[in-house]
Amino acid sequence: MAERMNGSCLCGAVRFTAVPERPKFNVCHCGMCRRWTGGPFFGVHCGTDVRFENEDQVGVIQTSEWAERGFCTSCGSALFYRLREAGTYEIAMGTLDGAEAFDFGLQVFVDKKPENYAFANETRMMTEQQVIDYFVKSNTGEADAT
Ligand SMILES: [Zn+2]
Ligand SMILES: [Zn+2]
Repeated sequence: MAERMNGSCLCGAVRFTAVPERPKFNVCHCGMCRRWTGGPFFGVHCGTDVRFENEDQVGVIQTSEWAERGFCTSCGSALFYRLREAGTYEIAMGTLDGAEAFDFGLQVFVDKKPENYAFANETRMMTEQQVIDYFVKSNTGEADAT
């Protein structure tokens, strides 16, 4: 898949286009994502080519050494998780028009998921340690992109 999709926040102040690398989405169960969105974060990997119509409406907060998160400064919608060095985006799935067609591919930080919910979908699963190991290998060129 290399089709450009439209996205927007709840209030419409932020509009953008992005190119999902695959018709799949990932879910992160980590405590930061749950604090940020109020639940697990549904993300679509979109590489670096995200074009904002009105970038001045986008707030960015650095939430770790390696990543930052973007949101609409008017309505607060969570828009993306972005790796600072690589500049790659995980776009919040719900902001993309038509992402309902995507498959649920992967759950990460599964060891951080609280016990009080669980998805019935059968997906790949990665623990926090597996995610960290994967990124270390990615940075040394040993792993393919998921
Ligand atoms: Zn908004
Ligand atoms: Zn997370």
